[in-house]
Amino acid sequence: VIEVFFLGTGGGAPSKKRRLPAFLIRKQGLSVLLDCGEGTQYTLMQYRLGINSLKIIGISHMHGDHVFGLLGLIASMGLLDRKETLYIIGPKNLKDFLFTSFEYSKFYPQFKIEFINSYEDDEIKISTFKTCHTVESQGFIISEKDRVKIDDKKLKEEGIKDWRIIRKLKEGKSVEVDGRILHPEDYLIVKKGIKVAYTGDTSPCQSVINSVKGVDLLIHDSTFLKEPSAYTYGHSNASDAARVALEASVKLLALTHISSRYEDVSMFLKEARKIYNSTILPEDLSYIVLK
Ligand SMILES: [Zn+2]
Ligand SMILES: [Zn+2]
Repeated sequence: VIEVFFLGTGGGAPSKKRRLPAFLIRKQGLSVLLDCGEGTQYTLMQYRLGINSLKIIGISHMHGDHVFGLLGLIASMGLLDRKETLYIIGPKNLKDFLFTSFEYSKFYPQFKIEFINSYEDDEIKISTFKTCHTVESQGFIISEKDRVKIDDKKLKEEGIKDWRIIRKLKEGKSVEVDGRILHPEDYLIVKKGIKVAYTGDTSPCQSVINSVKGVDLLIHDSTFLKEPSAYTYGHSNASDAARVALEASVKLLALTHISSRYEDVSMFLKEARKIYNSTILPEDLSYIVLK
């Protein structure tokens, strides 16, 4: 189960309705923030999402609308007496940007900040992929690990109750029972882990399509409705995002980074759904649960 909180679904400049990019992905106590537009810490507080429960922050690129909230957020973590290490996956200039600002503002975090390129534990994996923007930028894929479950029903039907046999099957080993060989693959059910991808800012591009193949949720740049020069700015129109979702056979597409120039966004959904029906356009402070 993965929870996705859309904290900020605007882009460029904030509007009355949409804040700057920030997405919180949670799984069993692990909280990951993707991008940190200005004001993200207020949104986290408003949601009671606990600033200090964030373990990992991913930053897609150095444009201000994606990163200017990070300094304030980290400063608050310090004031709230954080002890745990904060892990950051970001562009290479980010470290300099942060520590230079800390230096000038005489802020010395008492907790460790570690810059990493990817993350993995028993439950989850976070990796990055290249996106196509006007500056170096990356997207993120958060994948739950596949779960292997024993097929209790089948065991019951065959009258297998011995836990030693069941344990061996669970470990992926064949077992001999009364002269019959039981193969683990016949008794194991693989439950596919959920995958969430976030592009940050990007024009539609092949490297994104290749990287997000088959994900359960794709959060894709959809800055404009029908802007001919969208690609020049390194952004996508709603229909571009839909085409990427279609080509990559994702399960659900969420349009985001909506430019503040649009008051009414209903046309975004209409345009996208002509190409890819399984599309949503989340409002700020909405969330979905993927299982
Ligand atoms: Zn942006
Ligand atoms: Zn940008």
